[in-house]
Amino acid sequence: MKKTRLLAALLAAGMMLSLAACGGSASSSSAASSSAAASSAASSAAASSAADSEAAFTTVNDGVLTMATNAQFPPYEYYEGEKIVGIDAEIVAAIAEKLGLDYVIEDMEFDSIITSVQTGKADIGLAGMTVTDERKEAVNFTESYATGKQVIIVTEDSAITSVDDLFAEGASHVIGVQRNTTGDLYTTWDLEDAGLATIDRYSKGAEAVQALKTGKVDCVVIDNEPAKAFVAEVDGLKILETEYIEEQYAAAMNKDNEALYEAVNDALKELIADGTVQSIIDKYISAE
Ligand code: GLN
Repeated sequence: MKKTRLLAALLAAGMMLSLAACGGSASSSSAASSSAAASSAASSAAASSAADSEAAFTTVNDGVLTMATNAQFPPYEYYEGEKIVGIDAEIVAAIAEKLGLDYVIEDMEFDSIITSVQTGKADIGLAGMTVTDERKEAVNFTESYATGKQVIIVTEDSAITSVDDLFAEGASHVIGVQRNTTGDLYTTWDLEDAGLATIDRYSKGAEAVQALKTGKVDCVVIDNEPAKAFVAEVDGLKILETEYIEEQYAAAMNKDNEALYEAVNDALKELIADGTVQSIIDKYISAE
């Protein structure tokens, strides 16, 4: 990533955190995550290394699992009225229940989720987030709970017919992406840095799709499930059959709060093993 964009992303992250709204479904009272409570997660986890390991984890706010997400990513997280629903919202509810916690969901820019977890403002980033080596430097990832794909959306009459067309010698497409998602990161590295494309970055995937509809970009590279949802809402668009890359989704957690990481990861593994996660996914995604 280029330095200027990194700086912009960091600034945006700082600004968005103060705007983060609570769209949670459990206890809406804890939206006011005070900054005192927010900064506790990173340092206090190690305090209780004593016995009683079951209850030895700490959360940003006592008794509450605070999830950071970007609720513009159907069917993983999106608004139904005022409420954030979707696969990740149900998974956090199931994890919280196993751990005897309430939960709140805080909606923010995708960009801000990792910072929020890293700086102890949220306990868990759950956002259809792809595991990458760079992100692993900032956060711990749990077990993967779903597979994603980066796909290419084009207009029905597009000259772009496969992923290879983006890599063709002399290619110069304008590609729409959601800022700082893997669609952005990979196309930047593979194509823009190689002089094969210009990347147009939007804060919402749906905005990138609108830009495609109005001819501002030649294609959009984005995760397959939101791609399906967006294409279903806009006439004249289609998803190419060849995908860009396959990825793993996992929850992002603070590196210093190992006790909470272990507790959440164990709960998630149990929910995967007993079929709960699959049944949640099946509720939102029909088999192909
Ligand atoms: N899977 C993509 C990423 O992790 C997009 C996630 C999202 O937009 N919520 O970058």
